[in-house]
Amino acid sequence: MIVINGSQGEGGGQIFRTSLSLAMCLNKPVRIENIRAGRAKPGLLRQHLTCLRAAQSICAAQVTGDELGSREVSFTPGKVRAGEYRFAVGSAGSTSLVFQTLLMPLIFSGASSALMLEGGTHNGFAPSFDFINIGFLPAIARMGYQADAELSRFGFYPAGGGAWRAQIHPAQGVKALDLTQRGGLKSRLALATSSQIPKHITERELAQVQKKCLWCGDELQQRIVDSVGPGNIVSLRAISEHVTEVVEVVGEKQLSAERVAGRAAKAMNSYLAADVTVGEYLADQLLLPMVLGKGGQFTTQAPSKHFLSNVEVIKQFMAVDISVEQRSEHVWQVRV
Ligand code: ATP
Repeated sequence: MIVINGSQGEGGGQIFRTSLSLAMCLNKPVRIENIRAGRAKPGLLRQHLTCLRAAQSICAAQVTGDELGSREVSFTPGKVRAGEYRFAVGSAGSTSLVFQTLLMPLIFSGASSALMLEGGTHNGFAPSFDFINIGFLPAIARMGYQADAELSRFGFYPAGGGAWRAQIHPAQGVKALDLTQRGGLKSRLALATSSQIPKHITERELAQVQKKCLWCGDELQQRIVDSVGPGNIVSLRAISEHVTEVVEVVGEKQLSAERVAGRAAKAMNSYLAADVTVGEYLADQLLLPMVLGKGGQFTTQAPSKHFLSNVEVIKQFMAVDISVEQRSEHVWQVRV
């Protein structure tokens, strides 16, 4: 049995989720210890527990330690079965992270699957539904992985209540990722989304993006949505010929609209100036599809702790070369 120390590197939930995905794809039993030891509230939160139970149901795994707060889990996968599944996080926890845990095992299961997911759809510190839909899925489609996603309800922290569907198709013609050029910049969009909060918040966010990024009026959009609770997210998109970068910051009570939008603007400006293809978050999320497929290459900014931890977990499951070389002051090249 592979033993993964959940306190290594980033010490967060991704180590746990990556271990589950790899255990299912490679059909290797795993025990994860010290789960989320690096976090203030260690152990399994509702989102991680949903990932575990969802993983268990798609492959009839034998599991120990499946309870809230659990710091040690063992997971012996069975055969992954494509099908129609519904998973509810039961809180505002991120549904996208549940989706990403199941995605690669279902892609390699030999038939199509439908996933119905309920919980948070636009969370801080996780990819939002939009990030998945317009950033992540098109990037992995370049490797031959096809999935479609459709949102039916927005879910923000703390009320949750979001819902979306994903259709996942079996892998076909899998090829290496070749993403070292963005291609020409086709368009840019700043989208300030809100539910049940005053209109001036999103107006101020867009004004701040305009000031910090110097984007024009027709590149700025407000989106007022229905959700069971209040919520706000600033989403900046740079749509280039070969890749779409999505930078998102979720509004919080303690943060002014200007700070929320200012953080997003800073990250987007730095991505655009660095002339890399893949932003900080997409970089760690592309690793699994690459190592489970035909590898490939992309350029990114300085690798994050999430990225480096993910590399370490992957190496404990499989013999694979992942190189990260600094090419210039702000550009790193990742090769699998
Ligand atoms: P915890 O950190 O509490 O353990 P977690 O389960 O969310 O929680 P992490 O290990 O932090 O686990 O993993 C978060 C994942 O979400 C990473 O894959 C990271 O790339 C992604 N992510 C974080 N912030 C963003 C963002 N703004 N946009 C897109 N993806 C993000």
